[in-house]
Amino acid sequence: MSQAANGRILLLTTPRSYRVQPFLEAAKRLGIDAVQGLDLPVQLADQWQMELGLDFQDVPATTEKILKAAEKRPFQAILSVDDSGSLLAAHASQALGLPHNDPEAAVAARNKFVMRQKLQAGGVACPQFQRFPLDADLYEVVQQVTFPCVVKPLTLSGSRGVIRADNAAELLAAVSRLRRILPSTEPQFYLVEQFIPGFEVALEGILDNGRLTVLALFDKPDPLDGPFFEETIYVTPSRLPEAAQQAIAGCTAQAAQALGLRTGPVHAELRLNDDGPWLIEMAGRSIGGLCSQTLRFGVDGSLEEMILRQACGLDLDLRPSGRASGVMMIPIPEAGLFKGVTGLEAAQAVPLIESIEITAKLNYPLVPLPEGDSYLGFIFARGEEAEAVEAALRQAHHQLHFKIAPQIPLTMMN
Ligand code: ADP
Ligand code: CA
Repeated sequence: MSQAANGRILLLTTPRSYRVQPFLEAAKRLGIDAVQGLDLPVQLADQWQMELGLDFQDVPATTEKILKAAEKRPFQAILSVDDSGSLLAAHASQALGLPHNDPEAAVAARNKFVMRQKLQAGGVACPQFQRFPLDADLYEVVQQVTFPCVVKPLTLSGSRGVIRADNAAELLAAVSRLRRILPSTEPQFYLVEQFIPGFEVALEGILDNGRLTVLALFDKPDPLDGPFFEETIYVTPSRLPEAAQQAIAGCTAQAAQALGLRTGPVHAELRLNDDGPWLIEMAGRSIGGLCSQTLRFGVDGSLEEMILRQACGLDLDLRPSGRASGVMMIPIPEAGLFKGVTGLEAAQAVPLIESIEITAKLNYPLVPLPEGDSYLGFIFARGEEAEAVEAALRQAHHQLHFKIAPQIPLTMMN
């Protein structure tokens, strides 16, 4: 591969990540040489002629391997595309003397108990929390918690297993349900958190030497009051008052510091109420799903382009495009087999709708929350006003009709 003019970067990713492609495209546009470090058994990597097959679990050995690769030609930065590579990115960057996050921040991003402890220690506004073993005596658990609360596993994502409980009976039901959901390979604990009422937002930002720049603030206009917490609409720019947006940015910056995040992309979820912003979750990576497609900077730059520019020390034109945009993650309404969708053309014809991507696979089972963790697809819209973008997303969704056939269970759930 030829030496690229604008630097060389290592992208840590997994074989099935849908997030890496936009980074590769951005790298190409910017003339950055992007080497993919794939979490793969070494033999497979050789067969696939991957540039770097890396075992993300074996951080010391893999860090050595990255150091060797960097000896031949140095990397300006190591970037983890998914959460799974962030621990390795932190260690390897540290070893190479590159700007890096505290490896502990990667641990916190993968364990909600660790995250809460760090946020609390850093004085960040976040819910009260208690951790219980999955098999703890529920009678005793009930004595110790206050309602309303949220029961959640430590390590799952996409709101999987996150359940609100308003009283003892609901708490018992939530924990029994979680016991069936939680894979035995995951930590056999759960958190019970104070339920924080309020309006939810997602902040997309970038850290440079510990300084936070907000790239976008998304409103989540659909109420997320439980019992399950299905994400649907994200719209940016936020329609919150400037002072509230400032407070949210301040809380996020404080959280980054508490977690030891100092460099590169951050994605945070917060709730806002009369007591101000509360931190729900934060990670040292960019927004998930296909949602980054909503963002445009300067003259048509992508979010991934901004992240790569920052990593390679190139100029950043972070002026938002000035237009509003949004995405709807199309929720799964019921369990069953996905048999197709009608109304796509009508939905696509709704003004301001940019594209619709159905990601559910035909004839595959659909699992709604709290057991499932996927969507039927994504609707994207762009326009002058956030309000109109939100309305367009709802209207397009209304045009879509999903055919879901009942699935006869092979075994009854225990
Ligand atoms: P995940 O990693 O699965 O996304 P989160 O902790 O982010 O788990 O929770 C998912 C969603 O559940 C949040 O976006 C929020 O809407 C809701 N939620 C989680 N914890 C709380 C809480 N303590 N109070 C209110 N809502 C919460
Ligand atoms: Ca979350």
